Amino acid sequence: MTFNTGAMHCPKCNSNKIVKNGRTHYGTQRFKCQKCGRQFVESPTRQPINHSKRELIDKLLLERLSKAAITRVTGVSLRWLQYYVNQKYY
Ligand SMILES: [Zn+2]
Repeated sequence: MTFNTGAMHCPKCNSNKIVKNGRTHYGTQRFKCQKCGRQFVESPTRQPINHSKRELIDKLLLERLSKAAITRVTGVSLRWLQYYVNQKYY
């Protein structure tokens, strides 16, 4: 069963031909682009990053984890993380 979700866009090719494609182990809705085949989860940038997640990110930054690793651990987007870090240190 596939159906077009309408509002979403592919992060790779920006097509709106997006179908639901099951869920991740964590229960997050997964999507797939019918045009280029890219699979992705619901855009984390649309969800507010809550306080406990910010605290976790602060800790990970102190541990000098790479930004890519932090995005994998916390599920935030790299763009958001970059914005957050810039805001914090400048
Ligand atoms: Zn695509």
